[in-house]
Amino acid sequence: MIRVYNTLSKNKETFEPIKPGHVGIYLCGPTVYKPSHIGHMVGPTIFDAIKRYLTYSGYKVNLVINITDVDDKLIAESNKRGITMQAVADEMTADYMKNLGAMGIDTVDSFPKATDYMAAIIEFCQDLIAKGFAYASDGDVYFDVTKFAEYGKLSHRKSDEMVGEGGSTADRKRNSGDFALWKSAKPGEPSWDSPWGKGRPGWHIECSVMSSKLLGPTFDIHGGGLDLVFPHHENEVAQSECRHGAPPAKYWLHNGLMQASSEVGKLGGRNTREAEGPQAGDQAAQEAGKMGKSKGASAFRDLLAKFPGETIRFFLLSTHYRRPIDFSEARIEEVQTGLQQFYRFFQRLERTAGQSFYQLDYPKQRTEPAAATDEILKACLACRTKFLEFMDDDFNTGGAVAELFEVMRTLNRFCEEQKLDDPANRTPDKLATLVAGAKVLRELGMTIGMFQAPIATAAPGGDDALAGKLMELILELRAEARKTKNFATADKIRNALTAAGVVLEDRADGTAWTVKK
Ligand SMILES: [Zn+2]
Repeated sequence: MIRVYNTLSKNKETFEPIKPGHVGIYLCGPTVYKPSHIGHMVGPTIFDAIKRYLTYSGYKVNLVINITDVDDKLIAESNKRGITMQAVADEMTADYMKNLGAMGIDTVDSFPKATDYMAAIIEFCQDLIAKGFAYASDGDVYFDVTKFAEYGKLSHRKSDEMVGEGGSTADRKRNSGDFALWKSAKPGEPSWDSPWGKGRPGWHIECSVMSSKLLGPTFDIHGGGLDLVFPHHENEVAQSECRHGAPPAKYWLHNGLMQASSEVGKLGGRNTREAEGPQAGDQAAQEAGKMGKSKGASAFRDLLAKFPGETIRFFLLSTHYRRPIDFSEARIEEVQTGLQQFYRFFQRLERTAGQSFYQLDYPKQRTEPAAATDEILKACLACRTKFLEFMDDDFNTGGAVAELFEVMRTLNRFCEEQKLDDPANRTPDKLATLVAGAKVLRELGMTIGMFQAPIATAAPGGDDALAGKLMELILELRAEARKTKNFATADKIRNALTAAGVVLEDRADGTAWTVKK
């Protein structure tokens, strides 16, 4: 039984999709006017993991992430650069897609663009006017918030806390809280013909239109960052509910925001707790610490030049999604160190059992495994149970990741106790146990999209697969030399590698290597 925290009810609820077996998810995507920064990757990473987990749990999931390709910021950028708004949007959308690919996010079913839905947006506005919820004013169209008695129910705000944007449009509105569905175009701006003259849509209406077109008037999960609860999602609720007479989404899931941090915590420690208490839902508190450009929200591709996408994915999933994410490169490095323990285990599996981790056959659907007969497998399956409990409890990936570590450590301990690094100690039974345990790790990892495929940089510092393979060979030769007490050769290898800038570190679970920068 999966339970999710619903912003609408401020409660954890049992997850029951509207149509049994099917789940529709809509996640607010980027406004494509600048290259992506890490904040743009948070929602897609979380919802890619959620989709994988729901799919594993037997649901057929349709995941939609929209692209806002018309907006004041895009117009400003196009003027600044002297290129069309479309050219800005195309360039930044391509950057976004490339970044999603590097993060292993490939479960998104559609990326609708606002400009492809102009006719539907205009129709939506017309319908709201016809039903008396919206009005045209001097080329603009506004939603009248006084016509929707439940306005404020998602963000749990009172009407005096929901004053809309003032400025030049204030005198066109009936109430200060009214928000624009359609904005008249200034001369020279990109625009579309409408019954109210040339103009473009407001941001909020785009999402209501695209989500209802692709997922129906009421779908299961609407996601987004905590900073979108008000006004964006509150306005989506108002528009959609007034037009369709039904709420747009059954469950509203909001992820915590990225915040800059200089503090380095312990992986698998404090972040494994799920979000509880007022801080989890406190939009204002998190927004206060929200990472802005000044706090290092640099282009994501620059971060990708420093860390593999899988490391950043692991970093994002190591925290429960509702908690704020403390961002610093030091924290990502710490996560990378943890991740390398897994990569070394995969190498160990290959060395001892001749089995590629990535080619292990594993259950793609959640089914009860046969009871384990030996203690090691029993321990792995106990971790599996806990992992699934964490995920069922509002997708607590932070807690789940801690269980992945536990499976890996259990299997490493087994290898050490049985001295499996020495071929003489490898019996078919022991290797079967090792492989069966590794399968558990593979099954669980894939439910959140971890360890999808070997990455070239799996060995730290290695920038291509060949270097990784050669290093593996060199380290194996050195291990053999040490075992036969041929220390002269072992030292020669180490010294030559040091001279080449490769630093070795002998650990209980094998030798790690890094390239000194
Ligand atoms: Zn949206």
